[in-house]
Amino acid sequence: MAMADTIRVNPIECTGHGVCAELLPELISLDEWGYPLIDPRPVPPALDRDARRAVAACPALALKLTRSEKAQPVRNSAGSFSPGGTHPPGPPLGRTPPEPPDN
Ligand code: SF4
Repeated sequence: MAMADTIRVNPIECTGHGVCAELLPELISLDEWGYPLIDPRPVPPALDRDARRAVAACPALALKLTRSEKAQPVRNSAGSFSPGGTHPPGPPLGRTPPEPPDN
């Protein structure tokens, strides 16, 4: 399974310096108070270096790169793909799966 880094901000530690958005505008913008809005998608390989630079430059040590498994499409028993995850989807909400037959 592929691994990917995602940027996370600790909102308690963040002091709104905005350095991160200057260094990585492709994935970080600032809200009206100057606090970062982080793109939750995995960091593209082309931006990996800039993402590490933004994490290192944060004066409050509030930015982190977290490694996670990249969601892969999964084929279910009906042959269609679910958009991600590591196992086939369960029954629709509000429905219970059928009981296995007694032997
Ligand atoms: S550089 Fe760090 S402290 Fe400044 S806005 Fe970004 S995450 Fe917050």
